[in-house]
Amino acid sequence: MTSSVITPSAAHLRFFGIRKKDFAASVISAKDEAKKGQITCTGKEYDILSGFFKGELHTGKAASDPDKATKQFVLDNAGGQPVPLKLVYPKEGKNELRLYMSKKNGFRPQAGDIWYVYKRDSKKLHIGFMSRHEWEQIGKQDPDDADYQQAIQAELAGQPVMQTRYAYPRLLALAKSECENAGYRCRVDGSHQSFISGTNGKPFVEVHHLVPLGQQSHYTVTLDCAANLVALCPNCHRQLHHGEVTSRNVLLEKLLADRKAALATAGIDITLAGLEVCY
Ligand SMILES: [Zn+2]
Ligand SMILES: [Zn+2]
Repeated sequence: MTSSVITPSAAHLRFFGIRKKDFAASVISAKDEAKKGQITCTGKEYDILSGFFKGELHTGKAASDPDKATKQFVLDNAGGQPVPLKLVYPKEGKNELRLYMSKKNGFRPQAGDIWYVYKRDSKKLHIGFMSRHEWEQIGKQDPDDADYQQAIQAELAGQPVMQTRYAYPRLLALAKSECENAGYRCRVDGSHQSFISGTNGKPFVEVHHLVPLGQQSHYTVTLDCAANLVALCPNCHRQLHHGEVTSRNVLLEKLLADRKAALATAGIDITLAGLEVCY
């Protein structure tokens, strides 16, 4: 009966463009929900749905008053098109709020999928679903990386750094130390060629979080720590973010071999296989 609640990360909230209090998500259970095509809305889902459709919800079977049972949602899976879905209190006591899936209307999550509902403005209620893998991909992006690299260049030059509000906060002093400790060389291979930075006159290196910041929710210690920061030439850095899997994993293997002990000391225990799936 109980669904497992999913908590959105800061990146998820940015992705959906909403505040945490206006968003609820949970995993579709195999037995009760996927099989019957019905979702029992609990907790925050209940609060958001019942709050939005206040006073307009039908009590009784959906079939007894299809018009009143049908509510309009914006379905993210349908590219934000409005779709009708049935939402009722099936029992007189109104102790259960039930949402009906609809294959025809495009809302038919499978067992293990994450479904969500959120309010972006007062007129529309958004709904949607995705696989757990898709959900986890959202947290892996680092939309602030370009700002971060620019700020590191300024920090190395001792210039004032513009304040940026990062989705995942990070300390520039740590990044600066990593550049210095690396001797402004790539941690994959010190002979990698870069160029001289126009900001600080040093060989240009970028700083990367080996265990990506998007994984923060899985750790109790901060991922923005010295052990997790690696200076890289721009080419290796781009390869980690955009490269093809096999050659990218070669870089990860080398970098993790060098850092595994330090990461463990910092409270970040991770295997190569565990690291590879973070990318
Ligand atoms: Zn990076
Ligand atoms: Zn390199």
